[in-house]
Amino acid sequence: MRGVAELDCLIQILKVTSLIITEFRSNELEINTMKHSKKSIAKITASIFLSCLITGAHAGTGSEWSYSGDNGPEYWGDLSPEYAKCKNGMEQSPINLSEATIFDDAKSLKSKFDDVPLSVINNGHTIQVNVDNGSFTKTERGKQRLLQFHFHSLSEHTLDGKSFPLEVHFVHIDDAGMLSVLGVFFKLGEENDTLKAILDIAPNHKGVATADGKMLDPNRVMGSKKTEEYYRVQGSLTTPPCSEGVNWYISSDMQELSQAQFDRFQLLFKGGNARPVQPINQRVLKLNSSD
Ligand SMILES: [Zn+2]
Repeated sequence: MRGVAELDCLIQILKVTSLIITEFRSNELEINTMKHSKKSIAKITASIFLSCLITGAHAGTGSEWSYSGDNGPEYWGDLSPEYAKCKNGMEQSPINLSEATIFDDAKSLKSKFDDVPLSVINNGHTIQVNVDNGSFTKTERGKQRLLQFHFHSLSEHTLDGKSFPLEVHFVHIDDAGMLSVLGVFFKLGEENDTLKAILDIAPNHKGVATADGKMLDPNRVMGSKKTEEYYRVQGSLTTPPCSEGVNWYISSDMQELSQAQFDRFQLLFKGGNARPVQPINQRVLKLNSSD
């Protein structure tokens, strides 16, 4: 079923590329914009491949990997030369969040997420919802376009050594092709209705499930449209090939899911789908608490 994931990547690329070409055509009298757009198409196409890699959706020439056993996280770096960063990278994700340096220079993150058609992918490593409707988050680096969001259970990042039942990753890309991921933790509590809609149709095995005509509100997974307190650190993809250069933002505002929803995630990926925390090395972990 590798084909499903690869097809998914291809569809994402075609959709975003056609969106850019449409924007490009509407600006064709502006020569500078044309030059810029051509460059953007190449950059963004390359970066969507990277985005697919973030959840292992792209099989490529890499080796099969998993979250346990002989091809589990401790062996990822040995499975393929392409995965070398998994063992020799110095800025790997996830990390334990603690003893952050408080800073005031970064503003709140402002997200504008629009409803998306309810379609859920199980790529064998996570449950994912693709987004191609112009949703975005504004960070200190400018506008970041939302590409997809997916889940890890237990959480990948930890807070003062503590794991949480679930962590959602909102994967964004900017015009320069840089990836930014906004992470949100979930603790046990009330049922989350958007998670319910996703879990109700999520395939138990690799595949795609779509609920025709139904829409999904990503804001209900995000919690707030404005993230005022968050950790910020440079990191990597948390799945092979563990590529670095990813801007990470982890909200300290937690969301809730019910015990039954947590149990469902545990059943989907037995043994969990979280990479263990990695050394922070020379990186600086920042905590924005301004505004
Ligand atoms: Zn992730």
